[in-house]
Amino acid sequence: MNEKILIVEDEEKIARFVEMELLYEGYTVEKAFNGRLGLELALKGGYDIIVLDIMLPGINGMEILRRVRKTSDVPIIMLTARDTVIDKVTGLDCGADDYITKPFEIEELLARIRRILRKKPAGPAADRLFACGLTLDTDRHTASFGNVPIDLTKREFDLLRYLLENKGIVLSRETLLDKVWGYDFAGDTNAVDVYVRYLRSKIDDVFGIKLIHTIRGVGYVIKDE
Ligand code: CA
Repeated sequence: MNEKILIVEDEEKIARFVEMELLYEGYTVEKAFNGRLGLELALKGGYDIIVLDIMLPGINGMEILRRVRKTSDVPIIMLTARDTVIDKVTGLDCGADDYITKPFEIEELLARIRRILRKKPAGPAADRLFACGLTLDTDRHTASFGNVPIDLTKREFDLLRYLLENKGIVLSRETLLDKVWGYDFAGDTNAVDVYVRYLRSKIDDVFGIKLIHTIRGVGYVIKDE
């Protein structure tokens, strides 16, 4: 099956050139010439890699990156004309996988795409997270205990997902707030406690398990038992 790549780039000449080269390499390609469509397609999903320009009309690439990262781990390569440290730090903090400064050689982009695709974990196991009899399907955005589906809000799902992805690691409220709610969230860390309570009432209380452990003075952890 061909790997599918989304290019979000308002300079149509660059987008078409990159598309041509990627098609030649055997990839399937979709393009968005503005941030709004780029975000829409990226959130719709189904891509193996997203090549994302930062300077875009409407919604810029950094904002798209932040929004996509709330629900998806799709590899993202940022394109930027601004070769400044701050951009790189912000982008990588927000979850970009790689960076290319414009103007770039197409060979460099192709090499980075190949590298990311090689790193990608193989098999369906990567789409599912487990702990204590609970299964989280991150592709279909569903949670279940045995065969019993658990109805979670998006925020509850994202919080549970982050805890499961970091199984065995104690996460502070600040880290959870940062990773699950995002940089733009101005609330206090009580939100984390509130949502942990929601998850416990929907999972621990219903199925009689101890999923999320409180580590006093530190934070929360899901243990692998
Ligand atoms: Ca641009």
